[in-house]
Amino acid sequence: MKILVLNCGSSSIKYALYNMDDKSVITSGGIEKIGSPDSFIKIKVNDKKVKKDEPIPEHTRGVQFIFELLTTGEYAVLESVNEINAVGHRMVHGGEKFNQSVVITDDVMRDFSACNDLAPLHNPANIKGINAVKALLPNVPQVGVFDTAFHQTMPDYAYMYALPYELYSKYGVRRYGFHGTSHRYVSQRVLEYLGREAEGTKIITCHIGNGASIAAVKDGKCIDTSMGLTPLEGLIMGTRSGDIDAGAVTFLMDKLNLDTKGISNLLNKQSGLVGVSELSNDFRDILAGIAVGNDKARLAKEMYTYRIKKYIGQYAAAMGGVDIILFTGGAGENQWEVREGATNGLEFLGVKMDVARNRSCRATEAVISADDSKVTVCVIPTDEELMIATDTLALVEDILDKTEYSDYSEY
Ligand code: ADP
Repeated sequence: MKILVLNCGSSSIKYALYNMDDKSVITSGGIEKIGSPDSFIKIKVNDKKVKKDEPIPEHTRGVQFIFELLTTGEYAVLESVNEINAVGHRMVHGGEKFNQSVVITDDVMRDFSACNDLAPLHNPANIKGINAVKALLPNVPQVGVFDTAFHQTMPDYAYMYALPYELYSKYGVRRYGFHGTSHRYVSQRVLEYLGREAEGTKIITCHIGNGASIAAVKDGKCIDTSMGLTPLEGLIMGTRSGDIDAGAVTFLMDKLNLDTKGISNLLNKQSGLVGVSELSNDFRDILAGIAVGNDKARLAKEMYTYRIKKYIGQYAAAMGGVDIILFTGGAGENQWEVREGATNGLEFLGVKMDVARNRSCRATEAVISADDSKVTVCVIPTDEELMIATDTLALVEDILDKTEYSDYSEY
């Protein structure tokens, strides 16, 4: 069974082709800067990585180009695209309509399009990807896996904003949360890894990448998360401010004479690590800056880890305790400094780190707390693509066994 996973972003398409018989990745890659004259593609086959300039004006052509690449030329891994049994898509904003992954049908497309307002850059790109696959492989089932779905179990008092209620009923203004596929994967994987049951276990999952979010997972269900209506809320990120006084937002709009686009650009693209350090959004550069005595880099790092620590405290309070804290995402997996800074001082909660374990752990599954720590602290590398492929397999297996998919593909 071969499953293609597609992640169509506003100006990029990432892909991974899985052999689900052994869950191995046959090939993966991505097109970046779609629509710009310097668009390019990166391809990874058999541990060999290549980058090629390739003019890709828009997403449909991008998907078509990926299919050509899979079947022809020196990077071909398939005889024909008909070997692809199903396609799984990362879908960004499922609003309140989707609390789990679904086979894509006409109804799903309609409901998903109704969420476009909530993610105007991302959802339309996902739709383009689905339509491009449909045009090229009309009889292959497609599955949608939503970034927001895992967080749909939050109780109303956690997801509501204290705004006039009708803004929720009229426009759906509430916390949705993102990175749900990652939080779901790592919260399930850590239980397998530690041999524990979901029931009765309180987990805090810290996804610290360029985008960063944290979730409280109790009995296997998300009960709170730090990103909100949009991915701007919560932790300090590479280029996003995270939590900020809404009064500061209107103040800055006045002072700098910014419209909504201008303020959104300031908060999403020029803030966070890069804004404070005036150096970089990449945590590696921040550490290099600290090493040469750059004080703004020091400040950026301290703010960044302090914010994570505050959220861990909040979520321990929300769950009435915590059993497992785990780190994932590029910085969470690779940077011991982030993990040390975020957990330092949490001894009162029952966290006792093993300094050496933490410092030597890099992008691998590991326990990094001491053996006698009440709270188990772990690193669990995320694998959103595998989660999408796994959901896709689970949803299409029956369809492929029982019937011709064309019965389902009327959309
Ligand atoms: P995205 O949210 O774009 O997927 P990543 O998960 O790749 O981002 O995380 C980006 C952050 O992770 C950067 O701050 C970077 O410093 C850090 N990071 C990513 N990969 C590595 C690595 N191999 N070694 C050290 N740090 C890394």
